[in-house]
Order: sequence, then structure tokens, then C-alpha cells
Amino acid sequence: MNDSQSSAITLKEIETQALLTCREAFARYDEVAVKNTEKILTAFRECQLSAFHFQGTTGYGYDDVGRETLEKVFAHVFRAEKALVRPHFVSGTHALATVLLALLNHGDEMVCAMGTPYDTMQTVIGLTGNAPGNLQERGVAYHEVATKDGRCDLTALANAVGPKTRLVLIQRSRGYAERKALTITEIEEIIRVIKAKNPQTICFVDNCYGEFTATQEPIEVGADIAAGSLIKNAGGGIAPTGSYVVGCTDLVEATAHQLTAPGLGDEMGSYTPGYRLFFEGLFMAPHVVGQALRATEFAAAVFHRLGFKSEPQLGTERSDLIQTIELGTEKALCGFCEGLQAWSPVDGYVRPVPGELPGYADPIIMACGAFTQGSSIELSADGPLRAPYTVYLQGGLVFEHSRLAIMGAAAKVLEQ
Ligand SMILES: *Cc1c(COP(=O)(O)O)cnc(C)c1O
Repeated sequence: MNDSQSSAITLKEIETQALLTCREAFARYDEVAVKNTEKILTAFRECQLSAFHFQGTTGYGYDDVGRETLEKVFAHVFRAEKALVRPHFVSGTHALATVLLALLNHGDEMVCAMGTPYDTMQTVIGLTGNAPGNLQERGVAYHEVATKDGRCDLTALANAVGPKTRLVLIQRSRGYAERKALTITEIEEIIRVIKAKNPQTICFVDNCYGEFTATQEPIEVGADIAAGSLIKNAGGGIAPTGSYVVGCTDLVEATAHQLTAPGLGDEMGSYTPGYRLFFEGLFMAPHVVGQALRATEFAAAVFHRLGFKSEPQLGTERSDLIQTIELGTEKALCGFCEGLQAWSPVDGYVRPVPGELPGYADPIIMACGAFTQGSSIELSADGPLRAPYTVYLQGGLVFEHSRLAIMGAAAKVLEQ
């Protein structure tokens, strides 16, 4: 037997073992998906969703019943008083920034509970980039509470929240940070600590990448407002663009007046292509999130067997759709991305190469072949070319695809 045959057999065995290892976790994801599907179907029924709600409108979009019903459904699913769900949000960052700009004024103070926030949010706040109109330029004071052993430092958070703290940003997903994603129980604890120090402080959850990984959402455990992207979890891989904001009526209304114009609020906004893909995407979302969770757990199992360090570890609770794997060498990192790319539904014939990205110190390599541009609910991987050569693997609409792609990536890594 030559080397390539023996390693091929080994990989097949590893795949089989990994699938066995994942069985319990997969069964858990199925139960979560059933509960969330139940929530969504109940919301559709109570809002009397019908095919005429799928139709788009033109111009101002007054009395757009599709838009209004979509927002009622989101409010229902997220257990919020009110929702703003708009294709006019260009990205998750836009929705998050709109909330911050609506709620924070000159002289207010904001606190980040989980250390430095997601990259694009750093620019919104004014920590990087010096972008016009950022929060610090507008006179908003900023503090962040560093994480401790990858978790929220509740004592430091309690010390950071005072009478002037208007808002605390709580980021559920780990993003590109070295920490764990927040579970719903942890979000609940964080909110309790904040409210004990100042009941007026707004608890704002960046829910990007966390939706439907659990049976509860942030508003259910005391968050005042939360936002996320529709080209991630809540769009089910089907929504073509947009974001949502959910929460207390006054806060969501203020956000709407910031998105449109003071005085216009949420009563305007047409979308001519119609709303079917947003409703259908929400319907698909719990299942798709379950598929993406399978991809992360399966990758953890395969690469654990191959002897690589990865996070989150096998069998642990997952609250976002990101898996990191320390590949150790540049060749292994590039091999991983090449292998994954070869099994992408779009651009599967393309070989990814590392490139410079504005704002990043090291070259980045990425594998992505998504139907929706930039969609990270679809399977993708990326990582900076620096030690320990960690790849960030995320998303995956269909586990059959993710399984093939992860095994393809593993084969390429072993070749190196
Ligand atoms: C994706 C994401 C965002 C927003 O990113 P966009 O690309 O603007 O949609 C913000 N925070 C976190 C944690 C995210 O994962």
C-alpha cells in the first residue's frame, strides 16, 4: 500500500468516527431547531401570514402590509415589543450603528461588556479608522471591559457601569476575538449585573451569528434591544440583504427615526422585489443554523482526531457558528482554504491565494463561494498568515456540502 492510499483510508475512518462522535450534539441541535421552528410557525399563524404579504410596494411604501407583517413576525419570534426589519440596512454593522447613533448623544457614555468589539464596530465607535461621524467624534465617551479567561469579567463590568452609562454593548458571538461566544444564560447574568448598577442603562445585544443557536433570544433574558444581519442566521441563507432590530418600543422607534429621518420613522420604506424571501428565510433559519452548527462540530471532531487544537471544543455548548482550528503552518492554512474552496458551490474551480486587506497587518487567505455576496451563513473560512495559523471556519447551509468540504480541507492539510 502506498502512502496516499493509507492516508485516504485513514481519512475515511476519521470521517466515520467523527460522525459517530457528533451524534449526540446533532440530536441536540435538532431539538433546538424544532423549538425555534415552533416559535416561527406560531408567529406566522398569529400574524395571519398569507401569500399577499409577499408583494412589494413602490415609492414611499405607505401601508406596506408585507413590511408591517414581517416586522410583527420578527417582534413575535424574538419576544420583543417592536421590530424594525429592513432590506435598507446595508449590513449588520449598519443596523448596529443606527441603534448606537439613535440612542447615544453628546456627553453619554457607552461601555463594551466583552472587550474590544467586532472590527467594523471599532470604526463606528472611533477606535480605528477615524471615520466621519463616529461616536467618539460626536462626543460619546467609550469604555471597554476586558474579558477574563475568555469570559465576561462581571466585577470589572459592575465597576464600569455608573450613573452616566447610557448603554452597554453586549456582543454574543466571539467574532475574531480570542474568547468564547456568550450563552443566553451568560447574557442574562451580564444584564443582571448592569441593571443592578443602573436600571436606566440600555442593554444592547449584538446578536449577529447567535440567532437560533439556543431556544431563547436576548430580549427574553432582559435585553432592551438587539440587532442582527439577515445574511447571517436570521435570513436562513435565503434573505438577499438587510438586517433587523428588535426591542422596547421607544428604542426601536428611535432607531427607525435615525434610519429614515426624524419624523418619518418606520412608516415608510418600500421594497419592490417583495418580502417572500425574508419570510421564507426566517422559516428556514432554525434548520439552517442547525446545519451550520453540525459543520462546526464535525470540523472540531475531524481536526481533533488529526491532532489539531480547535475551539469550541467537542461536545461543548455552541452559541455562534464559528470554529477555529490552529493549523500550525502557513502551508496547512493555505491547504485548508484550497480544499474548502474546491468544494464551494460557486467558484469551486478557483484557487485562493493570500492577499493584503486594508486594515489588516498580515495577509489574509479566504475560501468562500457563496450564492449571496458576503453571506457568512454560507460555508466559508479565512485566517491571517501569522502564527499559530488559525483558520476561522463558519456557516454552512447544507451539512452534506460542509461534510464534503471539511473532508476536502482535511485531505489538503494532510498533503502539506
Ligand atoms: C457579522 C457581524 C457583525 C456585522 O457585520 P456585517 O458584515 O456588517 O454584517 C457585527 N458583529 C458581529 C459579532 C458579527 O459577527
